[in-house]
Amino acid sequence: MSLAHGVSYLAIPGPSVTPERVLRAMHRTSPNIYEGALPAMMPALVASLKAVARTEHNVTIYITNGHGAWEAALTNTLSRGDRILVPATGRFSHGWAEIARVLGVEVDIMDFGKRDPIDMAALTERLKTDDRGYKAVLAVHTDTSTSLRTDIPAVRAAIDAAGHPALLMVDCMASLGCDRFEMDAWGVDVMLAGSQKGLMTPPGLAFVWFNDKADRARDTANCVTWAWDWRPRAFPKIFSNYFGGTAPTLHLHGLREALDMIEEEGLENVWSRHASLARAVWAAAEHWGTEGTLELNVRQRELRGHSVTAFRAGSERATALRRWCEDKAGLTLGIGLGMTEPDDPAWHHFFRLGHMGHVSAQMILGALATMEAGMKAVGLPHAPGGVVKAAEVIAAEA
Ligand SMILES: *Cc1c(COP(=O)(O)O)cnc(C)c1O
Repeated sequence: MSLAHGVSYLAIPGPSVTPERVLRAMHRTSPNIYEGALPAMMPALVASLKAVARTEHNVTIYITNGHGAWEAALTNTLSRGDRILVPATGRFSHGWAEIARVLGVEVDIMDFGKRDPIDMAALTERLKTDDRGYKAVLAVHTDTSTSLRTDIPAVRAAIDAAGHPALLMVDCMASLGCDRFEMDAWGVDVMLAGSQKGLMTPPGLAFVWFNDKADRARDTANCVTWAWDWRPRAFPKIFSNYFGGTAPTLHLHGLREALDMIEEEGLENVWSRHASLARAVWAAAEHWGTEGTLELNVRQRELRGHSVTAFRAGSERATALRRWCEDKAGLTLGIGLGMTEPDDPAWHHFFRLGHMGHVSAQMILGALATMEAGMKAVGLPHAPGGVVKAAEVIAAEA
């Protein structure tokens, strides 16, 4: 028997759950793209996008996904033959690095593996003795494959301690609107994110924020192409400059509604909600792991992102658990990503829970209870009672 009929929860780490309010805002025919309400809403939309990133600098909106934003950030700042440094904390660091390589940029990777943070002293040392002339350091805030969160102010401090002029470019695809991020205060030069994770809007839009130092790099960057050029988009003379063509009409309405929701709740409260829900997930998982082989991928709490949690089942039952949760109970967990190759039997050891954006305590408690039921049903060894630990966190923090 399946008990999955009713409201389901897509708990993969992006795309995230789209709120009804956002869907309703998008449910209309396209408006005039030359005059009227849509062009008029842009200045306030741009202001809200800057506010959610805690920056007074510039932002561009692209009709693309995160991969496109990766390329946009690189093309506006780099030239072929330039060298960059990537301290890697998971699959997404390597993905961004690969896009740079295809552009003709030379990439040096410092690989910190799949569970461990960047060694900031080693990063400073590498930059101090830099004989490669690195133009940029690429960091991923929360790596969605490992759920490891990088201390971005510490990366800034490591670059500054070396007295190095490289741009600091940060991927906040999985963390913006979930974990605290303050672009200007943290000294981030370029930051990127997409619509479909913490910003609660369907996939299709991505954004690059950049400061004036990064914009000066744009003067000489020869990787820049017409479609990714951030100049006309961030400083438009006419409405169509924002998008280099037809505007993504319905997405803009959805995004407006999502940013309104964030502003109504308050960004600090949005961050606190994600932190509390993440602590509930960790409390359950840490308890389950006191028997059997289940464990969280990131061992130290302060290194865990608040929007996604990567699990190691320690057995091939992880895939069975995912399927059970989806088929029997309407909860879709994320596959493990970047831990191993799909043809490796260990592929079935990993899974992830997305808790980003439009998520509440009842959704998380429901998801955790469903996971506990699933572990029992598929025979994934664990200590029963993790849900009680999560409930205690919610009771104490709400
Ligand atoms: C989702 C994600 C991406 C890629 O985004 P796409 O929209 O799938 O191209 C890049 N970086 C991080 C950290 C992500 O979570």
